Amino acid sequence: FNVPTPVNEPINSYAPGTKERLLLKEAIAEARAKQLDIPMFIGGQEIHTKNKKKVVVPHDHQHVLATFSYGDKSHVKQAIDAALAAKADWEALAWEHRAAIFMKAADLFATKYRYQINAATMLGQSKNAYQAEIDAACELVDFLRFNVSYMQDIYGQQPPVSPNGMWNRTEQRPLEGFIFALTPFNFTAIAGNLPACVAMMGNVVVWKPADTQVYAANVIMQVFREAGLPDGVINLVFADGPEVGDVVFNHADFAGIHFTGSTKVFQEIWKTIGTNIHKYKSYPRIVGETGGKDFILVHPSADVAASATAIVRGAFEYQGQKCSAASRTYIPQSLWPEIKNLITRDLASFKMGGTEDFSNFINAVIDERSFDKLAKYIDQAKKDEGVEVIAGGNYDKSKGYFIEPTVLVVDDPKYTTMCEELFGPVLSVYVYQDEEFDQVLEIIDTTSPYALTGAILSQDRYAIEKASYALRNSAGNFYINDKCTGAVVGQQPFGGARGSGTNDKAGAMVNLLRWVSPRTIKETF
Ligand code: NAD
Repeated sequence: FNVPTPVNEPINSYAPGTKERLLLKEAIAEARAKQLDIPMFIGGQEIHTKNKKKVVVPHDHQHVLATFSYGDKSHVKQAIDAALAAKADWEALAWEHRAAIFMKAADLFATKYRYQINAATMLGQSKNAYQAEIDAACELVDFLRFNVSYMQDIYGQQPPVSPNGMWNRTEQRPLEGFIFALTPFNFTAIAGNLPACVAMMGNVVVWKPADTQVYAANVIMQVFREAGLPDGVINLVFADGPEVGDVVFNHADFAGIHFTGSTKVFQEIWKTIGTNIHKYKSYPRIVGETGGKDFILVHPSADVAASATAIVRGAFEYQGQKCSAASRTYIPQSLWPEIKNLITRDLASFKMGGTEDFSNFINAVIDERSFDKLAKYIDQAKKDEGVEVIAGGNYDKSKGYFIEPTVLVVDDPKYTTMCEELFGPVLSVYVYQDEEFDQVLEIIDTTSPYALTGAILSQDRYAIEKASYALRNSAGNFYINDKCTGAVVGQQPFGGARGSGTNDKAGAMVNLLRWVSPRTIKETF
């Protein structure tokens, strides 16, 4: 039998007057009123501790949405023990039964929990309704459904030749030990997918989300449990990252990490794993999607309006906190006056505020640390010669962590904000002379250590081909005549190389293959 052919989950618009808008507003009001006390989930048990931390709303930081129980090393040990105890039964379960659990979870996210997971993302991570919908409802559901369909393909792959008198076959074994899923704040879909796709392939998991994403993580865990995930298969712990790492990376049964987050943290983790390599039973799988310095290149032949829209949406949706967000753009002198007018006009029309008001395009950045970091870059840019602030430049954290969408025009294509990942609503623009297109390709490729996403806007096929080849290693996801964000599961497998990760494409078969270890069997008759 076959699993159903997946299709992408349709996106709700939440337009005024729709039933969906009302339901989402109700879910937001309910979440705001509830004051949850969120436990960890270890071995099917809710674990409460005396050490409580607060979940605050980034755009209204005096509002405490919930508290959550913070664990320590003993909880991480407990989570590893629970995972290992669940392992034998879980990996013996036929893959179709594991698939059914995650298909059911997908249906629950798409229906019963759709508004709750969106509301959690809107309040906990300050995403507006549309951004929450494409992340928490649609992408998470797509990850689950498409990955289940890839499972079927993976288990069906067999050696093509078995001469008479022989049967060659391949068995896909889960990894020996437990897997550590370490997830970032910025996508609810990533938080759900990283532990889920590992577990689908028969593995047991210790999952630690970012402290700023605990609220949505709690809903995800509830849904997995309601879908029938057996106790101990995914264990959710909330604790200090390095402390968790200290237990996990010193454990003999550590079999791999599925990480998404910053390059710096991933590199530290990789070093620790290297130092401890002699302690493990097997070489651990190290899969990580990390930082970016994503670009949009406009060619002199480009459509001006399409370029401006790609830049504004690519740079400022979700306050520039998508790993794929455009943060540097290269625009030819001949088009710059028109594009500048369109960008500044659009930005001036955007409202900034809380996610409860659906007319706000810009919401808050995630926390004070991020706010302070961005404010510092903006202040420095205001002081530096050769930098002009043509939009935004103001910030205010009195009520929420608000940074105006800011555009810096820089004289030097290697200015700090053209090279470093800022992870916020700050876009740097370098205006180049039209005849310098070839040099700009070289600059784009060599300016940053990252290679996640990039885009070119052009109507000139020779220029497109030239850029596509020259920038072949500068981005794992390359867009022609579109913004550099918005990869859709099943359509544009996502991930970057160089400093942006191991490029094991989330939501693709290649990723699931990292979580199994094939055994080849030859039987002669
Ligand atoms: P982060 O690296 O600060 O945190 C990621 C996770 O690691 C969190 O759970 C955190 O608590 C934990 N952590 C932090 N320090 C640790 C340590 N020393 N040991 C063990 N765990 C530790 O990232 P973030 O701020 O949550 O997310 C933003 C970053 O993620 C950006 O750099 C962004 O580009 C990247 N990102 C990349 C992709 C991608 O697909 N390439 C997708 C989303 C986010």
